[in-house]
Amino acid sequence: MTATRTSTTSTAPRHVRVGILGAGFAGLGMAIRLKQEGEDDFVVWERAADVGGTWWANSYPGCQCDIPSHLYSFSFAPNPEWRRTYAPQPEIQAYIRRVADDFRIRPHVRLNCAVTAASWDDVEHVWRVATERGDYTAEALVAAPGPLSEPSIPRLPGLDSFAGTVFHTATWKHDHDLSGRRVAVVGTGASAIQVVPEIQPLVEHLTVFQRTPPWVVPHGDRPIAERERQVFRRFPAAQRAVRAGVYLGRELLVPGLAYRPGLMTLIERLARRHLRRQVSDPELRRRLTPDYAIGCKRILPSNRWYPAVTQPNVEVVTDGIARVRPDGIVDASGALHRVDTIIFATGFHATDVRIAALTTGTRGRRLSDVWNGSPQAYRGTTVAGFPNLFFLVGPNTGLGHNSIVFMIEAQLNYVAGALQHMRRRGATKLEVTRAAQDAYNARIQRRMAQTVWSTGCSSWYLDRTGRNSTIWPDFTFRFWADLRRFDPSAYHLGRTSRRTRDAPVAAAA
Ligand code: NAP
Repeated sequence: MTATRTSTTSTAPRHVRVGILGAGFAGLGMAIRLKQEGEDDFVVWERAADVGGTWWANSYPGCQCDIPSHLYSFSFAPNPEWRRTYAPQPEIQAYIRRVADDFRIRPHVRLNCAVTAASWDDVEHVWRVATERGDYTAEALVAAPGPLSEPSIPRLPGLDSFAGTVFHTATWKHDHDLSGRRVAVVGTGASAIQVVPEIQPLVEHLTVFQRTPPWVVPHGDRPIAERERQVFRRFPAAQRAVRAGVYLGRELLVPGLAYRPGLMTLIERLARRHLRRQVSDPELRRRLTPDYAIGCKRILPSNRWYPAVTQPNVEVVTDGIARVRPDGIVDASGALHRVDTIIFATGFHATDVRIAALTTGTRGRRLSDVWNGSPQAYRGTTVAGFPNLFFLVGPNTGLGHNSIVFMIEAQLNYVAGALQHMRRRGATKLEVTRAAQDAYNARIQRRMAQTVWSTGCSSWYLDRTGRNSTIWPDFTFRFWADLRRFDPSAYHLGRTSRRTRDAPVAAAA
Protein backbone atom coordinates (compact mmCIF):
# COMPACT_ATOMS: atom_id res chain seq x y z
CA MET A 1 0.00 0.00 0.00
CA THR A 2 1.35 3.46 -0.82
CA ALA A 3 0.71 6.87 0.65
CA THR A 4 -1.17 9.48 -1.32
CA ARG A 5 1.79 11.41 -2.73
CA THR A 6 1.01 15.09 -2.60
CA SER A 7 4.57 16.29 -2.35
CA THR A 8 6.45 17.44 -5.39
CA THR A 9 9.72 15.55 -4.94
CA SER A 10 10.34 12.42 -6.96
CA THR A 11 13.37 11.11 -5.02
CA ALA A 12 13.20 7.90 -2.98
CA PRO A 13 11.70 8.39 0.46
CA ARG A 14 14.13 8.94 3.30
CA HIS A 15 14.00 6.31 5.96
CA VAL A 16 13.92 7.10 9.68
CA ARG A 17 13.43 4.94 12.69
CA VAL A 18 10.96 7.39 14.22
CA GLY A 19 8.96 10.16 12.56
CA ILE A 20 7.41 12.73 14.87
CA LEU A 21 4.58 14.95 13.72
CA GLY A 22 4.55 18.30 15.54
CA ALA A 23 7.19 20.35 17.35
CA GLY A 24 5.19 21.55 20.34
CA PHE A 25 5.76 20.42 23.90
CA ALA A 26 4.77 16.84 23.03
CA GLY A 27 6.75 16.36 19.80
CA LEU A 28 9.87 18.00 21.21
CA GLY A 29 9.50 16.01 24.43
CA MET A 30 9.47 12.81 22.36
CA ALA A 31 12.51 13.93 20.41
CA ILE A 32 14.41 14.66 23.63
CA ARG A 33 13.40 11.34 25.10
CA LEU A 34 14.63 9.49 22.02
CA LYS A 35 17.96 11.28 22.23
CA GLN A 36 18.22 10.40 25.92
CA GLU A 37 17.67 6.75 24.93
CA GLY A 38 20.55 6.99 22.44
CA GLU A 39 18.28 7.13 19.39
CA ASP A 40 19.38 9.68 16.83
CA ASP A 41 17.57 8.40 13.78
CA PHE A 42 14.41 10.50 13.89
CA VAL A 43 12.85 13.52 12.27
CA VAL A 44 10.29 16.06 13.55
CA TRP A 45 7.92 17.50 10.94
CA GLU A 46 6.45 20.87 11.87
CA ARG A 47 4.04 22.72 9.60
CA ALA A 48 4.72 26.10 11.27
CA ALA A 49 7.73 28.35 10.79
CA ASP A 50 9.12 27.62 14.26
CA VAL A 51 8.90 25.15 17.11
CA GLY A 52 6.36 25.78 19.90
CA GLY A 53 3.08 24.28 18.70
CA THR A 54 0.13 26.00 20.31
CA TRP A 55 2.49 28.52 21.94
CA TRP A 56 3.81 29.50 18.54
CA ALA A 57 0.34 29.75 17.00
CA ASN A 58 -1.46 31.61 19.77
CA SER A 59 0.15 35.02 19.92
CA TYR A 60 -2.99 37.06 20.59
CA PRO A 61 -2.65 39.99 23.02
CA GLY A 62 -2.91 38.77 26.61
CA CYS A 63 -2.18 35.12 25.78
CA GLN A 64 -0.95 33.51 28.97
CA CYS A 65 -0.96 30.02 30.43
CA ASP A 66 -3.49 29.54 33.19
CA ILE A 67 -1.42 26.77 34.78
CA PRO A 68 1.39 28.06 37.03
CA SER A 69 4.76 28.47 35.32
CA HIS A 70 6.80 26.33 37.70
CA LEU A 71 4.63 23.36 36.74
CA TYR A 72 4.13 24.23 33.08
CA SER A 73 7.54 23.08 31.93
CA PHE A 74 9.42 19.80 31.48
CA SER A 75 10.46 18.19 34.76
CA PHE A 76 13.89 17.61 33.23
CA ALA A 77 14.30 21.21 32.05
CA PRO A 78 13.31 23.52 34.91
CA ASN A 79 13.25 27.23 34.18
CA PRO A 80 14.34 29.42 37.11
CA GLU A 81 13.89 32.49 34.87
CA TRP A 82 10.07 32.61 34.79
CA ARG A 83 9.12 36.24 35.36
CA ARG A 84 5.50 35.67 36.33
CA THR A 85 3.79 32.95 38.32
CA TYR A 86 1.61 32.38 35.21
CA ALA A 87 3.83 32.77 32.16
CA PRO A 88 2.73 34.88 29.20
CA GLN A 89 2.95 33.32 25.74
CA PRO A 90 6.25 34.97 24.66
CA GLU A 91 8.02 33.53 27.73
CA ILE A 92 6.70 30.04 27.09
CA GLN A 93 7.61 30.24 23.43
CA ALA A 94 11.13 31.38 24.37
CA TYR A 95 11.38 28.48 26.85
CA ILE A 96 10.36 25.92 24.21
CA ARG A 97 12.87 27.33 21.72
CA ARG A 98 15.60 27.22 24.34
CA VAL A 99 14.80 23.61 25.22
CA ALA A 100 14.93 22.65 21.52
CA ASP A 101 18.38 24.24 21.29
CA ASP A 102 19.75 22.95 24.61
CA PHE A 103 18.80 19.36 23.80
CA ARG A 104 20.09 19.72 20.23
CA ILE A 105 16.78 18.87 18.62
CA ARG A 106 16.90 21.58 15.95
CA PRO A 107 18.90 19.54 13.39
CA HIS A 108 16.09 16.98 13.43
CA VAL A 109 13.28 19.51 12.93
CA ARG A 110 11.86 20.24 9.48
CA LEU A 111 9.96 23.54 9.65
CA ASN A 112 7.25 24.62 7.19
CA CYS A 113 6.83 20.92 6.55
CA ALA A 114 3.24 19.78 7.00
CA VAL A 115 2.51 16.07 6.81
CA THR A 116 0.00 15.56 4.03
CA ALA A 117 -0.57 11.80 4.29
CA ALA A 118 0.56 8.81 6.34
CA SER A 119 -0.18 5.20 5.36
CA TRP A 120 0.79 1.97 7.04
CA ASP A 121 2.62 -0.45 4.77
CA ASP A 122 1.76 -3.89 6.11
CA VAL A 123 4.36 -5.63 3.96
CA GLU A 124 7.42 -3.60 4.93
CA HIS A 125 6.05 -2.61 8.33
CA VAL A 126 6.73 1.07 7.88
CA TRP A 127 4.68 4.23 7.80
CA ARG A 128 4.83 5.91 4.41
CA VAL A 129 4.66 9.60 5.14
CA ALA A 130 4.20 12.33 2.55
CA THR A 131 5.17 15.85 3.63
CA GLU A 132 5.34 19.21 1.93
CA ARG A 133 9.10 18.73 1.78
CA GLY A 134 9.46 15.18 0.60
CA ASP A 135 8.47 11.62 1.38
CA TYR A 136 9.64 9.42 4.21
CA THR A 137 9.34 5.93 5.53
CA ALA A 138 9.29 5.60 9.32
CA GLU A 139 9.40 2.47 11.44
CA ALA A 140 7.33 4.24 14.08
CA LEU A 141 5.17 7.32 13.83
CA VAL A 142 4.54 9.60 16.80
CA ALA A 143 1.60 11.94 16.25
CA ALA A 144 1.80 15.05 18.39
CA PRO A 145 -0.34 17.55 16.48
CA GLY A 146 -2.00 18.99 19.61
CA PRO A 147 -5.74 18.72 20.13
CA LEU A 148 -6.17 22.50 19.94
CA SER A 149 -4.41 23.28 16.70
CA GLU A 150 -7.21 23.63 14.16
CA PRO A 151 -9.11 26.89 14.77
CA SER A 152 -12.89 26.56 14.61
CA ILE A 153 -14.85 29.38 12.99
CA PRO A 154 -18.62 28.98 13.04
CA ARG A 155 -20.36 29.05 9.68
CA LEU A 156 -22.44 32.13 10.33
CA PRO A 157 -24.88 33.09 7.59
CA GLY A 158 -23.54 36.03 5.63
CA LEU A 159 -20.00 35.86 7.02
CA ASP A 160 -18.54 35.88 3.51
CA SER A 161 -20.29 39.18 2.80
CA PHE A 162 -18.62 40.98 5.72
CA ALA A 163 -16.73 44.02 4.42
CA GLY A 164 -14.33 44.34 7.33
CA THR A 165 -11.53 42.19 8.75
CA VAL A 166 -12.07 38.72 10.21
CA PHE A 167 -9.65 36.51 12.12
CA HIS A 168 -9.40 33.89 14.85
CA THR A 169 -7.51 34.36 18.11
CA ALA A 170 -5.14 31.54 17.09
CA THR A 171 -4.27 33.29 13.81
CA TRP A 172 -4.06 36.84 15.14
CA LYS A 173 -3.59 39.55 12.50
CA HIS A 174 -0.84 41.60 14.08
CA ASP A 175 -0.78 44.02 11.16
CA HIS A 176 -4.41 44.97 11.77
CA ASP A 177 -4.35 47.94 14.17
CA LEU A 178 -7.41 47.82 16.42
CA SER A 179 -7.06 51.40 17.67
CA GLY A 180 -10.28 53.33 17.25
CA ARG A 181 -12.10 50.43 15.62
CA ARG A 182 -15.50 48.88 16.23
CA VAL A 183 -14.74 45.30 17.10
CA ALA A 184 -16.79 42.18 17.77
CA VAL A 185 -15.38 39.30 19.81
CA VAL A 186 -17.35 36.09 19.39
CA GLY A 187 -17.02 33.66 22.29
CA THR A 188 -16.26 33.96 25.99
CA GLY A 189 -13.90 31.05 26.63
CA ALA A 190 -10.29 30.92 27.83
CA SER A 191 -8.94 32.88 24.86
CA ALA A 192 -11.64 35.57 24.89
CA ILE A 193 -11.29 36.41 28.55
CA GLN A 194 -7.59 37.05 28.04
CA VAL A 195 -7.87 39.04 24.84
CA VAL A 196 -10.83 41.28 25.73
CA PRO A 197 -9.14 43.15 28.63
CA GLU A 198 -6.12 43.79 26.38
CA ILE A 199 -7.98 45.26 23.43
CA GLN A 200 -10.83 47.03 25.27
CA PRO A 201 -8.78 50.18 26.04
CA LEU A 202 -7.69 50.46 22.39
CA VAL A 203 -10.92 50.08 20.52
CA GLU A 204 -13.68 52.61 20.04
CA HIS A 205 -16.37 50.03 20.74
CA LEU A 206 -16.32 46.36 21.60
CA THR A 207 -19.27 44.00 21.23
CA VAL A 208 -18.80 40.67 23.02
CA PHE A 209 -21.07 37.90 21.78
CA GLN A 210 -21.57 35.51 24.65
CA ARG A 211 -23.37 32.22 24.11
CA THR A 212 -22.61 30.70 27.51
CA PRO A 213 -21.03 32.61 30.39
CA PRO A 214 -17.87 31.07 31.83
CA TRP A 215 -17.23 30.57 35.54
CA VAL A 216 -14.45 32.99 36.43
CA VAL A 217 -12.35 32.88 39.60
CA PRO A 218 -9.74 35.28 41.04
CA HIS A 219 -6.34 35.01 39.42
CA GLY A 220 -3.21 34.48 41.53
CA ASP A 221 -0.86 35.83 38.87
CA ARG A 222 2.02 38.02 40.11
CA PRO A 223 5.54 38.93 39.02
CA ILE A 224 8.38 36.72 40.27
CA ALA A 225 10.99 38.97 41.85
CA GLU A 226 14.67 38.74 40.88
CA ARG A 227 15.32 37.68 44.50
CA GLU A 228 13.11 34.61 44.03
CA ARG A 229 14.68 33.80 40.70
CA GLN A 230 18.11 33.89 42.32
CA VAL A 231 16.93 31.36 44.88
CA PHE A 232 15.65 29.06 42.10
CA ARG A 233 18.92 29.46 40.19
CA ARG A 234 21.09 28.65 43.18
CA PHE A 235 18.84 26.03 44.76
CA PRO A 236 17.01 24.04 42.08
CA ALA A 237 15.49 21.94 44.87
CA ALA A 238 13.55 25.04 45.97
CA GLN A 239 11.89 25.27 42.57
CA ARG A 240 11.21 21.54 42.58
CA ALA A 241 9.50 21.94 45.95
CA VAL A 242 7.34 24.81 44.66
CA ARG A 243 6.52 22.73 41.59
CA ALA A 244 5.46 19.79 43.74
CA GLY A 245 3.32 22.07 45.90
CA VAL A 246 1.61 23.56 42.85
CA TYR A 247 1.03 20.09 41.41
CA LEU A 248 -0.58 18.80 44.61
CA GLY A 249 -2.64 21.95 44.96
CA ARG A 250 -4.09 21.43 41.47
CA GLU A 251 -4.83 17.77 42.17
CA LEU A 252 -6.94 18.86 45.15
CA LEU A 253 -9.56 19.84 42.57
CA VAL A 254 -9.89 16.25 41.34
CA PRO A 255 -12.19 14.95 44.11
CA GLY A 256 -14.70 17.65 43.14
CA LEU A 257 -14.18 17.49 39.38
CA ALA A 258 -14.03 13.73 38.98
CA TYR A 259 -15.63 12.07 42.01
CA ARG A 260 -18.12 14.27 43.85
CA PRO A 261 -19.19 17.24 41.74
CA GLY A 262 -21.16 18.50 44.76
CA LEU A 263 -17.84 19.50 46.31
CA MET A 264 -17.39 22.05 43.54
CA THR A 265 -19.93 24.34 45.23
CA LEU A 266 -17.02 25.62 47.35
CA ILE A 267 -15.33 26.91 44.21
CA GLU A 268 -18.66 28.12 42.87
CA ARG A 269 -19.07 30.33 45.95
CA LEU A 270 -15.66 31.84 45.27
CA ALA A 271 -16.62 32.54 41.67
CA ARG A 272 -19.99 34.08 42.63
CA ARG A 273 -18.32 36.36 45.15
CA HIS A 274 -15.75 37.39 42.49
CA LEU A 275 -18.58 38.30 40.12
CA ARG A 276 -20.49 40.21 42.83
CA ARG A 277 -17.41 42.20 43.75
CA GLN A 278 -16.48 43.11 40.20
CA VAL A 279 -19.87 43.68 38.55
CA SER A 280 -22.29 46.00 40.32
CA ASP A 281 -25.00 46.19 37.65
CA PRO A 282 -27.49 43.44 38.62
CA GLU A 283 -28.75 42.96 35.07
CA LEU A 284 -25.26 42.50 33.62
CA ARG A 285 -24.35 40.27 36.57
CA ARG A 286 -27.36 38.08 35.84
CA ARG A 287 -26.26 37.69 32.23
CA LEU A 288 -22.72 36.86 33.27
CA THR A 289 -23.83 34.19 35.75
CA PRO A 290 -23.46 30.60 34.45
CA ASP A 291 -26.28 28.12 34.96
CA TYR A 292 -24.21 24.91 34.85
CA ALA A 293 -22.01 23.17 37.40
CA ILE A 294 -18.68 24.90 37.84
CA GLY A 295 -15.89 22.84 36.30
CA CYS A 296 -18.12 21.35 33.59
CA LYS A 297 -16.39 23.78 31.24
CA ARG A 298 -12.87 24.98 32.01
CA ILE A 299 -12.78 27.28 35.07
CA LEU A 300 -11.18 30.53 34.01
CA PRO A 301 -8.94 32.65 36.24
CA SER A 302 -9.07 36.40 35.62
CA ASN A 303 -9.10 39.60 37.61
CA ARG A 304 -9.52 41.66 34.46
CA TRP A 305 -12.40 40.07 32.53
CA TYR A 306 -15.33 41.48 34.53
CA PRO A 307 -13.82 44.98 34.89
CA ALA A 308 -13.27 45.01 31.10
CA VAL A 309 -16.81 44.04 30.18
CA THR A 310 -18.25 46.69 32.50
CA GLN A 311 -16.46 49.53 30.64
CA PRO A 312 -18.68 52.04 28.81
CA ASN A 313 -17.30 51.08 25.38
CA VAL A 314 -18.20 47.40 25.84
CA GLU A 315 -21.52 45.70 25.23
CA VAL A 316 -22.19 42.06 26.09
CA VAL A 317 -24.74 40.57 23.71
CA THR A 318 -26.40 37.37 24.82
CA ASP A 319 -29.15 37.09 22.23
CA GLY A 320 -27.12 34.93 19.89
CA ILE A 321 -25.97 35.68 16.37
CA ALA A 322 -28.54 35.55 13.56
CA ARG A 323 -26.36 36.61 10.64
CA VAL A 324 -23.53 38.76 9.46
CA ARG A 325 -23.97 41.74 7.10
CA PRO A 326 -21.27 43.70 5.28
CA ASP A 327 -21.38 46.33 8.03
CA GLY A 328 -21.89 44.23 11.15
CA ILE A 329 -23.61 41.43 13.02
CA VAL A 330 -27.34 41.05 13.49
CA ASP A 331 -28.33 39.36 16.73
CA ALA A 332 -31.29 37.05 17.28
CA SER A 333 -33.45 39.96 18.47
CA GLY A 334 -32.90 41.65 15.09
CA ALA A 335 -30.58 44.39 16.41
CA LEU A 336 -27.63 45.34 14.20
CA HIS A 337 -24.22 45.72 15.84
CA ARG A 338 -22.05 47.77 13.51
CA VAL A 339 -18.46 46.54 13.51
CA ASP A 340 -15.46 46.70 11.18
CA THR A 341 -13.55 43.78 12.72
CA ILE A 342 -14.75 40.36 13.85
CA ILE A 343 -12.48 38.31 16.10
CA PHE A 344 -13.47 34.70 16.59
CA ALA A 345 -12.48 33.37 20.01
CA THR A 346 -14.51 30.28 19.23
CA GLY A 347 -12.06 27.52 20.06
CA PHE A 348 -10.76 24.57 18.09
CA HIS A 349 -11.68 21.37 16.30
CA ALA A 350 -10.65 19.24 19.25
CA THR A 351 -12.28 15.92 18.42
CA ASP A 352 -12.19 15.96 14.61
CA VAL A 353 -8.45 16.40 14.33
CA ARG A 354 -6.91 16.80 10.88
CA ILE A 355 -4.33 14.05 11.38
CA ALA A 356 -7.13 11.45 11.53
CA ALA A 357 -8.21 12.28 7.99
CA LEU A 358 -4.63 11.93 6.74
CA THR A 359 -3.82 8.61 8.35
CA THR A 360 -4.53 5.21 6.82
CA GLY A 361 -3.96 2.03 8.81
CA THR A 362 -4.21 -1.70 8.12
CA ARG A 363 -6.63 -2.81 5.39
CA GLY A 364 -6.65 0.74 4.02
CA ARG A 365 -8.87 2.08 6.79
CA ARG A 366 -8.73 5.79 7.41
CA LEU A 367 -8.48 6.84 11.05
CA SER A 368 -11.18 9.49 10.66
CA ASP A 369 -13.55 6.76 9.40
CA VAL A 370 -12.62 4.44 12.26
CA TRP A 371 -13.10 7.18 14.84
CA ASN A 372 -16.12 8.63 13.08
CA GLY A 373 -15.97 11.82 15.10
CA SER A 374 -15.48 10.02 18.42
CA PRO A 375 -11.77 9.33 18.99
CA GLN A 376 -10.70 6.32 21.06
CA ALA A 377 -7.27 4.99 21.89
CA TYR A 378 -5.65 2.66 24.39
CA ARG A 379 -4.09 4.68 27.22
CA GLY A 380 -4.61 7.75 25.04
CA THR A 381 -1.72 6.53 22.92
CA THR A 382 -2.27 3.55 20.59
CA VAL A 383 -5.13 2.60 18.28
CA ALA A 384 -6.14 -0.89 17.07
CA GLY A 385 -5.62 -1.17 13.32
CA PHE A 386 -2.84 1.45 13.34
CA PRO A 387 0.39 -0.38 14.23
CA ASN A 388 3.52 1.47 15.31
CA LEU A 389 1.51 4.69 15.69
CA PHE A 390 1.65 6.56 18.99
CA PHE A 391 -0.45 9.57 19.87
CA LEU A 392 0.72 12.16 22.36
CA VAL A 393 -2.09 14.10 24.04
CA GLY A 394 -4.40 11.61 22.36
CA PRO A 395 -8.00 10.77 23.29
CA ASN A 396 -8.90 11.17 26.99
CA THR A 397 -5.60 12.66 28.05
CA GLY A 398 -6.77 16.28 28.27
CA LEU A 399 -6.96 18.21 31.52
CA GLY A 400 -8.87 21.20 32.77
CA HIS A 401 -7.07 21.60 36.05
CA ASN A 402 -3.42 20.60 35.74
CA SER A 403 -0.38 20.77 33.46
CA ILE A 404 -0.62 18.89 30.18
CA VAL A 405 3.18 18.66 30.23
CA PHE A 406 2.84 16.18 33.11
CA MET A 407 0.57 13.99 30.96
CA ILE A 408 2.95 14.30 28.02
CA GLU A 409 5.89 13.11 30.11
CA ALA A 410 3.86 10.10 31.25
CA GLN A 411 3.18 9.25 27.61
CA LEU A 412 6.85 9.66 26.71
CA ASN A 413 7.70 6.94 29.23
CA TYR A 414 5.14 4.67 27.68
CA VAL A 415 6.17 5.22 24.06
CA ALA A 416 9.85 4.81 24.94
CA GLY A 417 8.93 1.55 26.70
CA ALA A 418 7.02 0.33 23.65
CA LEU A 419 9.92 1.06 21.31
CA GLN A 420 12.37 -0.67 23.67
CA HIS A 421 10.06 -3.67 23.85
CA MET A 422 9.94 -3.93 20.06
CA ARG A 423 13.70 -3.72 19.84
CA ARG A 424 14.25 -6.35 22.53
CA ARG A 425 11.82 -8.73 20.87
CA GLY A 426 13.08 -8.06 17.35
CA ALA A 427 9.56 -7.00 16.36
CA THR A 428 8.81 -4.72 13.44
CA LYS A 429 5.11 -4.34 14.17
CA LEU A 430 3.29 -3.57 17.40
CA GLU A 431 -0.46 -3.21 17.53
CA VAL A 432 -2.80 -2.84 20.47
CA THR A 433 -5.53 -5.46 20.62
CA ARG A 434 -9.08 -4.37 20.00
CA ALA A 435 -10.12 -6.09 23.24
CA ALA A 436 -7.63 -4.10 25.33
CA GLN A 437 -8.66 -0.85 23.69
CA ASP A 438 -12.38 -1.51 24.17
CA ALA A 439 -12.00 -2.57 27.79
CA TYR A 440 -9.89 0.50 28.52
CA ASN A 441 -12.42 2.87 26.97
CA ALA A 442 -15.33 1.20 28.73
CA ARG A 443 -13.48 1.77 32.00
CA ILE A 444 -12.79 5.42 31.14
CA GLN A 445 -16.42 6.05 30.28
CA ARG A 446 -17.68 4.36 33.47
CA ARG A 447 -15.40 6.66 35.43
CA MET A 448 -16.50 9.64 33.33
CA ALA A 449 -20.14 9.14 34.28
CA GLN A 450 -19.42 10.29 37.84
CA THR A 451 -17.56 13.44 36.87
CA VAL A 452 -18.60 17.07 36.65
CA TRP A 453 -18.03 16.91 32.88
CA SER A 454 -21.09 14.65 32.66
CA THR A 455 -23.44 17.00 34.50
CA GLY A 456 -25.12 18.29 31.38
CA CYS A 457 -23.28 21.32 30.01
CA SER A 458 -22.20 21.44 26.40
CA SER A 459 -18.44 21.76 26.01
CA TRP A 460 -15.70 21.02 23.51
CA TYR A 461 -14.77 18.06 25.69
CA LEU A 462 -17.77 16.22 24.19
CA ASP A 463 -17.49 14.90 20.67
CA ARG A 464 -20.29 14.89 18.14
CA THR A 465 -21.72 11.67 19.59
CA GLY A 466 -21.91 13.27 23.03
CA ARG A 467 -19.09 11.11 24.39
CA ASN A 468 -16.34 12.79 26.36
CA SER A 469 -13.33 11.68 24.35
CA THR A 470 -11.10 14.49 25.53
CA ILE A 471 -10.67 14.57 29.29
CA TRP A 472 -8.73 12.28 31.60
CA PRO A 473 -11.33 11.64 34.31
CA ASP A 474 -9.15 10.96 37.33
CA PHE A 475 -6.10 12.00 39.34
CA THR A 476 -3.23 12.67 36.96
CA PHE A 477 -0.83 10.55 39.05
CA ARG A 478 -3.02 7.56 38.17
CA PHE A 479 -2.40 8.23 34.49
CA TRP A 480 1.31 8.51 35.22
CA ALA A 481 1.30 5.24 37.20
CA ASP A 482 -0.66 3.45 34.43
CA LEU A 483 1.80 4.54 31.78
CA ARG A 484 5.00 4.20 33.80
CA ARG A 485 5.67 0.78 32.29
CA PHE A 486 4.76 -0.50 28.87
CA ASP A 487 2.26 -3.38 29.14
CA PRO A 488 3.03 -5.93 26.37
CA SER A 489 0.01 -8.10 27.19
CA ALA A 490 -2.26 -5.54 25.49
CA TYR A 491 -0.37 -5.86 22.20
CA HIS A 492 0.27 -8.13 19.24
CA LEU A 493 3.78 -8.21 17.87
CA GLY A 494 4.78 -8.97 14.29
CA ARG A 495 7.93 -9.26 12.28
CA THR A 496 8.74 -8.74 8.63
CA SER A 497 11.89 -9.50 6.70
CA ARG A 498 10.78 -7.31 3.81
CA ARG A 499 11.87 -3.96 5.19
CA THR A 500 14.26 -1.88 3.09
CA ARG A 501 15.97 1.21 4.41
CA ASP A 502 18.61 3.79 3.62
CA ALA A 503 20.71 6.39 5.44
CA PRO A 504 19.52 8.03 8.66
CA VAL A 505 17.79 11.29 7.81
CA ALA A 506 19.25 13.47 10.59
CA ALA A 507 22.72 13.09 9.19
CA ALA A 508 21.58 13.55 5.61
CA ALA A 509 19.58 16.75 6.14
P1 NAP B 1 -13.36 27.57 23.99
O1 NAP B 1 -13.03 27.44 25.41
O2 NAP B 1 -13.88 26.41 23.24
O3 NAP B 1 -14.36 28.78 23.89
C1 NAP B 1 -15.02 29.06 22.71
C2 NAP B 1 -16.05 30.12 22.97
O4 NAP B 1 -16.69 30.41 21.75
C3 NAP B 1 -17.14 29.66 23.93
O5 NAP B 1 -17.54 30.75 24.71
C4 NAP B 1 -18.24 29.20 22.99
O6 NAP B 1 -19.52 29.26 23.55
C5 NAP B 1 -18.09 30.24 21.90
N1 NAP B 1 -18.64 29.82 20.64
C6 NAP B 1 -18.28 28.75 19.91
N2 NAP B 1 -19.03 28.69 18.80
C7 NAP B 1 -19.89 29.75 18.85
C8 NAP B 1 -20.91 30.23 18.00
N3 NAP B 1 -21.24 29.59 16.87
N4 NAP B 1 -21.57 31.34 18.37
C9 NAP B 1 -21.26 31.97 19.51
N5 NAP B 1 -20.31 31.57 20.36
C10 NAP B 1 -19.63 30.48 20.02
O7 NAP B 1 -12.12 28.11 23.12
P2 NAP B 1 -10.83 28.89 23.62
O8 NAP B 1 -11.22 30.02 24.48
O9 NAP B 1 -9.99 29.17 22.45
O10 NAP B 1 -10.13 27.82 24.53
C11 NAP B 1 -9.98 26.49 24.11
C12 NAP B 1 -9.10 25.76 25.06
O11 NAP B 1 -7.78 26.17 24.83
C13 NAP B 1 -9.33 26.03 26.52
O12 NAP B 1 -10.38 25.31 27.07
C14 NAP B 1 -8.00 25.68 27.09
O13 NAP B 1 -7.89 24.29 27.23
C15 NAP B 1 -7.07 26.18 26.02
N6 NAP B 1 -6.66 27.55 26.31
C16 NAP B 1 -5.90 27.74 27.41
C17 NAP B 1 -5.52 29.01 27.72
C18 NAP B 1 -4.72 29.24 28.91
O14 NAP B 1 -3.96 28.44 29.37
N7 NAP B 1 -4.86 30.36 29.47
C19 NAP B 1 -5.88 30.09 26.93
C20 NAP B 1 -6.63 29.85 25.82
C21 NAP B 1 -7.02 28.57 25.51
P3 NAP B 1 -20.15 27.97 24.30
O15 NAP B 1 -19.48 27.94 25.64
O16 NAP B 1 -21.59 28.25 24.35
O17 NAP B 1 -19.81 26.78 23.44
